[in-house]
Amino acid sequence: MLSVEEARQQMLESIPVLPTEKRGILECTGYVLAEELHAKENIPPFDNSAMDGFAVLSTDVKDTSKENPVILSVIETIAAGYAPEKQVSSGQAARIMTGAMMPDGADAVVMQEVTELIDDEVRIFENVERNENVRFTGESVNKGDCVMSPGKVLRPPEVSMMASLNCAEASVYRKPKVAIVSTGDELTPLGEPLKPGRIRDSNRYGIFAQVQNAGGMPVDMGIAPDDEAETERIFRESIANADALITSGGVSVGEHDVVKNVLMKLGQMNFWRVAMKPGKPQAYGEIDGKPVFGLPGNPVSSLVVFELFVRPALLKMAGHTDLLRPSFKAVLAADVTNKDGRVNYMRAILTEENGQYIAKTTGPQGSGILHSLVLANGLITIPSGASFHAGEIVEAQFLD
Ligand code: AMP
Ligand code: MG
Repeated sequence: MLSVEEARQQMLESIPVLPTEKRGILECTGYVLAEELHAKENIPPFDNSAMDGFAVLSTDVKDTSKENPVILSVIETIAAGYAPEKQVSSGQAARIMTGAMMPDGADAVVMQEVTELIDDEVRIFENVERNENVRFTGESVNKGDCVMSPGKVLRPPEVSMMASLNCAEASVYRKPKVAIVSTGDELTPLGEPLKPGRIRDSNRYGIFAQVQNAGGMPVDMGIAPDDEAETERIFRESIANADALITSGGVSVGEHDVVKNVLMKLGQMNFWRVAMKPGKPQAYGEIDGKPVFGLPGNPVSSLVVFELFVRPALLKMAGHTDLLRPSFKAVLAADVTNKDGRVNYMRAILTEENGQYIAKTTGPQGSGILHSLVLANGLITIPSGASFHAGEIVEAQFLD
């Protein structure tokens, strides 16, 4: 059996990064940049005022004070969006608004709050240094600079920067289209009454939501019965319509667990057992070069295996390089034992108290007890065979 780290590394090495596409600036949030973006203009494009106030010669006001203000004559008002028409000479000032272009001659701006304007004269109560309250051409970005490189995730600041750079579209990595199939004769879609022996298909919806959260585009392919021929048909259709396939259930050793057989028939299976709990049986493979993730059927296992394996894989497909959630130390609130030979990912509530994280497990941890995840905001890692007392430290990670 492979360890989680071995299996994940092996899997991630074989995950393809998807091709790139051009996207408009309003449709690229959350995508990963696939090209360098250069500044074709200076930002800001001209020297301008950082304040509403008066553009002056700093030497004119160096000896001014509240008691003995320098008085300057105001020669024009410069609003944002307009070019100054006059040059400021000694003894003069120009009224200037934030973002307005600095007039020739002036080398600083006195903020309005320390001035008094009477008709066309202004009293200056405080001095300014040369360059004070002036924003210079190219101070943020210089023409020709490489501002963003491939691999940069386009968050709101990057989108704003794209606009500053006059960049209406960018080349980004495609986000994966991910087909989702639940398997199992016992599964009943929402809305239908439950017959004896049947349960709700919860995994398909949970996986759908996880794919959305991981930035993928889920494609619901419904429920496959425990029948090889029908499962094969649905897998073929899924792979034809998506970049990856996620299945739930049918990867264990039961008589009706057909997912592995179908995967081996249509493509190849790379591993199917990982030493972790919840979630030992899981299949990873590929069909037509597209990754196939066979998640276990138990609802907690399905969600946890997605979190530890599928999420980083989908992120890699979309061009991300930061694939794993950060892990950190947390102090146990109660004793915890893992008698199993597999690492145990326990569902926990992680809270910050006095500068450290405290981990409380969320009650019964069976892999079918979905409520243990609903109550949790994180996972704690308990190595195989380990026992910890309350107050001892374990590795933890958030789930969202
Ligand atoms: P399996 O791996 O197919 O043997 O399923 C393991 C357990 O998970 C069984 O109790 C199944 O009934 C349950 N299960 C499988 N698929 C789902 C699903 N889509 N939603 C909820 N439970 C499921
Ligand atoms: Mg099944």
